[in-house]
Amino acid sequence: MPKLTIDLTTCKKSGQCYYMQPALVRRGADNLPELAVAEVPANQIDDAQDLVDGCPAGAIDLID
Ligand code: SF4
Repeated sequence: MPKLTIDLTTCKKSGQCYYMQPALVRRGADNLPELAVAEVPANQIDDAQDLVDGCPAGAIDLID
């Protein structure tokens, strides 16, 4: 199953990801994002791709 990755060294803490898709990413310590799921369920692939496309820092990837 596909997985999301977040590069916290490039993340700008915009918060966009956890506001856009709280089922996939949640707000963690110091307003850094944390993955809410280990793997992306098939019915949330489009939502995960929206996160990749919407991150202003290009910090989120979706990998197989
Ligand atoms: S959308 Fe991108 S830059 Fe903003 S908090 Fe999430 S990972 Fe960080």
